[in-house]
Amino acid sequence: MEAPENESFRDSIGTIDEEGKRAWVYPKKPSGKYYDKRKIVSYILLAFLFAAPFIKINGNQFLMFNVLERRFNIFGFPFWPQDFHLFVISMIIGVVFITLFTVGFGRIFCGWICPQTIFMEMVFRRIEYWIDGDRNKQRKLDRQKWDAEKIRKRLLKWFIFLVISFLIANIFLAYLIGSDKLLKYITDGPTEHMGTLFPLIIFTAVFYFVFAWFREQVCIIACPYGRLQGVLLDTKSIVVAYDYKRGEGENGRKKFRKNEDREALGHGDCIDCLQCVHVCPTGIDIRNGTQLECVNCTACIDECDHIMESINLPKGLIRYASEHEIETKEKFKLTARMKGYIAVLVILIGVLIGMLLIRNDVEARVLRLPGQLYEHKEGDIISNVFTYKLVNKTVHEIDSVHFKLRKFNGEIKVVSNTNNIVIPKEGLSEGTLFIEIDKKELTGDKNKLMIEVYSGNELIETTTVNFLGPRSYN
Ligand code: SF4
Ligand code: SF4
Repeated sequence: MEAPENESFRDSIGTIDEEGKRAWVYPKKPSGKYYDKRKIVSYILLAFLFAAPFIKINGNQFLMFNVLERRFNIFGFPFWPQDFHLFVISMIIGVVFITLFTVGFGRIFCGWICPQTIFMEMVFRRIEYWIDGDRNKQRKLDRQKWDAEKIRKRLLKWFIFLVISFLIANIFLAYLIGSDKLLKYITDGPTEHMGTLFPLIIFTAVFYFVFAWFREQVCIIACPYGRLQGVLLDTKSIVVAYDYKRGEGENGRKKFRKNEDREALGHGDCIDCLQCVHVCPTGIDIRNGTQLECVNCTACIDECDHIMESINLPKGLIRYASEHEIETKEKFKLTARMKGYIAVLVILIGVLIGMLLIRNDVEARVLRLPGQLYEHKEGDIISNVFTYKLVNKTVHEIDSVHFKLRKFNGEIKVVSNTNNIVIPKEGLSEGTLFIEIDKKELTGDKNKLMIEVYSGNELIETTTVNFLGPRSYN
């Protein structure tokens, strides 16, 4: 975007004062078309965020990120450590998706979908407006001495913030350890599970710190996605932008005066009312151009539209637009970079769907016992010993599991002297087995065998092993 004449805004950020101290932002309460839409989107997403750990598909939690046990559920699909490659592909798709959106639509994710913005602007900030009042009242209250009113308001606000932080920490835990475990821990009583209570207190403290004090600093200095904007955005990315051509005119912006012919005087449509600055939750002036601090919350669009309406000028002085569009008035088109990202995304999604479709509920691994070759047995039988591991990725127990050899005429003997193995739900069963084959069946010293795993009559998995025998049997 064309650089403003005065570049001094680049020397500092809006939330740090000249002495390097935190400059508290008191954003004006937003209102308008975009804010109303964002409220609807936010409350739908909040309902989803709170409900997702309690929704189950085929008994699997809809979303779960159990980092400690390396078990992840995404949209009801359980990913085990054995499925780590699928989990990695899903994460890559997520990153490419967000990148594509950022190239095309800037930080639209931050303004509309990011939990930090939603909690901050739609939950904590709204409670603050309700208790402390709008911008001017908040500033006054902050300067006020600690009288009864201030103490009452502060205690009420901090208490509500703490309760909500505790609630968020519980939901966060439900994503980490699973909602079943969380509900069990709650009914057992917190003292029974001190190992979980401690992280819960830490999470509560972190959320309280973030939403009560750290606030917009998360987006400005801590969020890695925010820092990436500089490399992802280009002149054709759609961002919340000030139409400097219209706003500045030939002779710059100027305060509004009734009955003045601004056009004849060469002044732009911006009346320098600063409402777009006062409403900004990250404390920036969008008229200086696209800045990393802008989270695309749209509050300044709504605010400027109110002003334009009140002085009978067309709305949209601040709007969703690209630098290219403002400069040339050309409408948005897909760029080559965006087309490339879309192609990569389509390929990755195809790979993921294919992998999910061929993925089994049971995974079998049969491996040769280290250091063992083969053994001759009575009646020209050759025997090899193996270990097996059966992983059940479902939430149901799988019983009557047994092995069969495909093509080869031989026998599989499980050491536990039962050929009816039970694999516990979300668990594994392991042991040792012998494969015995008549030497006439063998074609050399290395024979590839295919083992079929059945549950009752149902074939649930196949796997291959190398069976060793003496060198020549022809
Ligand atoms: S709200 Fe609109 S008119 Fe007022 S200062 Fe901002 S851009 Fe200019
Ligand atoms: S500049 Fe506008 S869109 Fe960006 S953070 Fe501030 S108010 Fe929100």
